[in-house]
Amino acid sequence: MSDETPICSAKGCRAAAVWVLAWNNPKIHTPERRKTWLACEEHREHLSQFLGVRGFLKDVVLLKEWEEEGGG
Ligand SMILES: [Zn+2]
Repeated sequence: MSDETPICSAKGCRAAAVWVLAWNNPKIHTPERRKTWLACEEHREHLSQFLGVRGFLKDVVLLKEWEEEGGG
C-alpha cells in the first residue's frame, strides 16, 4: 500500500498528488480530528474551494511536508 504513488482525490483524476488538504466536518468529527484529501496541482484550488465554502478546510500542506511530519 505505502509503496503506491498517492493519487489526487478529485473524481476521475489519476494524477500524482502534490498537496494534502486537511479538513474537519464539525457535525461529525471532533474538533481535533483531521480528514485528508490529496490533490494534484490542477485540483488543489477546486478541492480547496469545495471544502472552504462548507467551512471544513483547515490546512493545505505539501504532501512531502505532510509525510515528513508523520501525517498524524
Ligand atoms: Zn487532480
